[in-house]
Amino acid sequence: MNNLDEYLREAETAHGHLCAGQVLGVRLAMAGLSRLGIEDPRGADRKRLVTYVEIDRCATDAVMVVTGCRLGKRALKFRDWGKMAATFVDLQSGRAVRVAAKESSKEAARRLHPELESKNQQQMLAYREMPDGELFDFADVRVEVHAEDLPGYKGERIVCAECGEGINFHREIIRNGKMLCRGCAGENYYTRLS
Ligand SMILES: [Zn+2]
Ligand SMILES: [Zn+2]
Repeated sequence: MNNLDEYLREAETAHGHLCAGQVLGVRLAMAGLSRLGIEDPRGADRKRLVTYVEIDRCATDAVMVVTGCRLGKRALKFRDWGKMAATFVDLQSGRAVRVAAKESSKEAARRLHPELESKNQQQMLAYREMPDGELFDFADVRVEVHAEDLPGYKGERIVCAECGEGINFHREIIRNGKMLCRGCAGENYYTRLS
């Protein structure tokens, strides 16, 4: 693993700016990986790791930098829970750890650096300095990563009986004996205008 400053430099480039969320995200991922004993997440250990993120904010970009887990590699899973937390799964050992930022960390940052004016400045500095135990709650957890969710999964691609579009990874829904995509099955997030 790189050190905090190296990761923060990379995170700044990847994310577009350095912010408290980047510091928190880098720390969160480093803490999770070190609990699992994953030392080279983007090199030798890159096939061992799947990461579940629970929020789509600044810290998520930083978690991606440290872990090397990407959506397009199927190693990053998004659960839209709005929580500053991530779970790191070691596919090799089957162990997993969920790391959640403590709700008290913001207040602790304010107490630690009252001399700084902006909250972002207070947090950027404090999140570098505070020990893991004050920033995060850790839980050993078990995550069942199903075969079709694993990186590198290869399976049959089927075609939706309604719209004719192809569907990968068993995301189809069977209704009245017909194989449908999620959109045609009624889970649409868009309304077709033309
Ligand atoms: Zn940011
Ligand atoms: Zn369809």
